[in-house]
Amino acid sequence: MSTSINRKTITRLLIANRGEIAIRIMQSAQKLGIHCIALYSDADRNALHVKKADEAWFIGPSPAKDSYLVVEKILEVAKKSNADAVHPGYGFLSENAEFAQAIMDASMAWVGPPVAAIQAMGSKIESKKLMEAANVPLVPGYHGDNQDEAFLSEEVRKIGFPVLVKASAGGGGKGMRVIESEDEIAAAIAASKREGLNSFGDDKLLVEKYITRPRHVEIQVFMDEMGNGVYLFERDCSIQRRHQKVIEEAPAPQFSQSMREKMGEVALLSAKAINYVGAGTVEFLYANGEFYFMEMNTRLQVEHPVTEMITGQDLVAWQIKVAQGESLPLTQAQLSINGHSMEVRIYAEDPDNQFLPTTGRLDFVQLPELIDGKVRLDTGVVQGDEVSPFYDPMIAKLIVWGEDRRQCLSTLKNALQQYQIAGVTTNLSFLRRLVNVAAFKEGTVSTAFIEEFSSQLTTDNQVKQHHLIAAVCQHMLVRVSPGINSNAQGDANSPWHNMSALRLNAPARETLRLAYSNGDALEIQVDSLASNEWCLHLESGAINVKARLEGQQLQYEFSGQWHNARVINHDQRIWVYDSQGESEIHYQQNNFSQDEEMGGSLKAPMNGTLIQLDVTVGQSVSTGDSLMIMEAMKMEHAIKAPHGGVVKSITFAVGDLVGGGDILIELEEVDAS
Ligand code: ADP
Ligand code: ADP
Ligand code: MG
Repeated sequence: MSTSINRKTITRLLIANRGEIAIRIMQSAQKLGIHCIALYSDADRNALHVKKADEAWFIGPSPAKDSYLVVEKILEVAKKSNADAVHPGYGFLSENAEFAQAIMDASMAWVGPPVAAIQAMGSKIESKKLMEAANVPLVPGYHGDNQDEAFLSEEVRKIGFPVLVKASAGGGGKGMRVIESEDEIAAAIAASKREGLNSFGDDKLLVEKYITRPRHVEIQVFMDEMGNGVYLFERDCSIQRRHQKVIEEAPAPQFSQSMREKMGEVALLSAKAINYVGAGTVEFLYANGEFYFMEMNTRLQVEHPVTEMITGQDLVAWQIKVAQGESLPLTQAQLSINGHSMEVRIYAEDPDNQFLPTTGRLDFVQLPELIDGKVRLDTGVVQGDEVSPFYDPMIAKLIVWGEDRRQCLSTLKNALQQYQIAGVTTNLSFLRRLVNVAAFKEGTVSTAFIEEFSSQLTTDNQVKQHHLIAAVCQHMLVRVSPGINSNAQGDANSPWHNMSALRLNAPARETLRLAYSNGDALEIQVDSLASNEWCLHLESGAINVKARLEGQQLQYEFSGQWHNARVINHDQRIWVYDSQGESEIHYQQNNFSQDEEMGGSLKAPMNGTLIQLDVTVGQSVSTGDSLMIMEAMKMEHAIKAPHGGVVKSITFAVGDLVGGGDILIELEEVDAS
């Protein structure tokens, strides 16, 4: 068994990943003249990363556990394709020591740290022990070997609420529970254990003081085989939801040079303590001028581009050089910060519905204008691609640079404004609102930011109302005109339109049944007044509206004011964009009724996997009882009984993939007693 990195020039690189990061790695590798070998599953047959690769190999069914996570399959492809190196990207097998060892045993170069370093940092418990020995400041808590539940509960009490329990093997924000009071202890410990076991095969827990309103500040480190090390400064990743990053920036706002140096030195010390080689990130919590080691990620990080933007370095190229046994391209003294950079993660998810992941086809994508060195987009999908439930719901990363934070933010706002996606619900308008919050502009961020400003971040009711009116106008214009199909943005002045006004059996009044993506249903009565004039009966009262299509723009007027919007209707959904944001509005199916749903069957709130069933057919349940646990976006969601009853049928088994809206369970209502 060799544990050292094979020193040789890489000519054929297998990328054991998919999507945006696979493409990102190819970009740098191909520039270096390296032949890139990609992998793909069933779902990825036509994926962009396959098209961009020099060659691509099929590795199996869509679920990652049957393809991208199967060590033997990937090893076999690596050998058959004559790869001389493997880059794991992030996620998937990137922190899997067994995989790294197998690659090195097959005499290939591993573009990552030594196996021992992956092992040392793979366990949060072990890494905290190591860091303690190296005198690195830690979040106070218990990270010992006693895993007895009564003992852990006692440790929780000793630390004092709020407390965080974490799965030692956890990652991606998963396997964590905040405990606020005595009565939450048992359930939180059980849930973290379960998530740890199900997702990482290890139920060991550690307990930490839950620091309120801290910042997440992390240091990018790099080391070569000769033991040289540098830090490429910090990234602030405080803007998070569910303990997962949404916006990252470098340098950290309101952060002093002396703190930067101190944290950088400590991070480097941590890396040296485990004989690190390659790219790594040391994550800290930063609060009240103090910082505490949280964990080290032994891989390239999702948010590495912001560091590239401010240092002018290509971190993937650095990784390849180090994997070839070369020394680091620059010394600490040669590195400096130039300007400011921010990255926003565009996710297929619904911020108005607890950030639950969404899926669908990217029917329409309008990208922001990309400007070299200023506006960059890292993505693995293009218009027409499907966002499937199988993988991470991240659609793209938008990365911008400015001479200072103010300019950077203004470039970001601009780019976000231009970016439009229809077909899949995304967090784009949420991000637009987020970057407009005054506290964000000032740089007073913390990990509680999204929660604290939630009232400013959910869709504004007045904007919603405008969008609804626009959607109805578009529906009326397009529906009455056979010349205008859903995607072609027709011309209201076309002869078709005039003809449609003469439709003989057009009802004078009709009812439109619509719903917002969060399920809020609406019934709107529309009286036709003229070919492009209607009276809409909204909850707030009746209004008269006029509308026309100017090319792709819908122009509509009410209360004496004209408004502009871009409206796309497709597949039972209407997408409205204007300068205020975007809304997704559904046509309600005729047979859909909220009452029916409540009466009998319970539908899945999102796409995900069923990971635990708490009931069996025939069992009686009361309101609020947990029926099952679904997992989506690396988080568990308990599905609770909306009312008491007897379980009549259960549709899925543990391990099944469930689509949003699928019927999960049928409950027979019993008389309330
Ligand atoms: P970071 O600390 O860099 O944000 P996380 O701890 O959130 O990283 O873990 C990285 C996550 O990136 C993985 O858990 C996985 O869900 C996700 N991921 C892995 N591969 C890809 C990919 N090709 N495209 C998008 N996301 C990915
Ligand atoms: P993961 O491996 O899932 O990335 P981390 O330990 O890095 O787990 O924690 C993820 C996020 O959870 C952090 O960025 C931070 O926002 C929050 N967090 C972790 N530990 C604490 C803590 N002790 N107090 C407050 N927040 C914490
Ligand atoms: Mg982390």
